[in-house]
Amino acid sequence: MPHTEHILPGGRYAVVSCHVERPLDDAVWDRFSALQRRRPGGFRIAALMRVPDAGAGEDERLWIERARQAAMLGPFGLHTHWAAPDHARPTNGDPAAVVRSEAEWLAARGFDVSLFCGGGWYMDERVAETLAELGYADCTATAFRPRYLAAGAPRLGASEPCWLELTGGRRLLELPTTHSLGMLARGVLAPYRRSVVHAYFHDTDLLDFKRRNALSVALQFLSWKRWQTDLEQLQRGLRPAKTMSFANSRG
Ligand SMILES: [Zn+2]
Repeated sequence: MPHTEHILPGGRYAVVSCHVERPLDDAVWDRFSALQRRRPGGFRIAALMRVPDAGAGEDERLWIERARQAAMLGPFGLHTHWAAPDHARPTNGDPAAVVRSEAEWLAARGFDVSLFCGGGWYMDERVAETLAELGYADCTATAFRPRYLAAGAPRLGASEPCWLELTGGRRLLELPTTHSLGMLARGVLAPYRRSVVHAYFHDTDLLDFKRRNALSVALQFLSWKRWQTDLEQLQRGLRPAKTMSFANSRG
């Protein structure tokens, strides 16, 4: 890994994150944990984890044990599923309050967290305000339009890191997700001219032999094309020149 104390403007970097949604499922967890240790392509894979849902009977102690392992092996972040373990986007209530309470839950258990990705790519300005106030960087903006989202569904669109200016005067560091596993595997990188590629996958992708292999190949390919860094280093070292107002990045 090159030194990334100061991320160079115009440098061509890549980072990788995983939406860790089923860490209590042994088969999923074993695959993810092995991958994080193996570092395909040399990448320190960020674990963006869904916190346990007590209402759904999820085991908090086991979750904490596994999350601590993940946090030692790479950047660590929060991935909120608002409605249910298997239903990411909020259906009612106060999405920002959920994010705050999950961030507090993690902090109270000793997790040093400052990365966030909204489940189902959901983001609204109150959630963004909450993240800025907590000192988080956000990865919810996407360079692609998720196909399953209805027209007008709240999301953020951005293709490169930027500051998001919020109505209340705060600003949020946005490190958009630019490539899915499928996009990388199809070689969609070639026309991509931006300085930072942020590839993501789901922990459950690892259950599938073909997807697992595609991921390893894609990350190896990415490591030849870009300098490997990670979300923590980007958050620490990158100072984007570009600023966007939140209202203008609604996708
Ligand atoms: Zn998710």
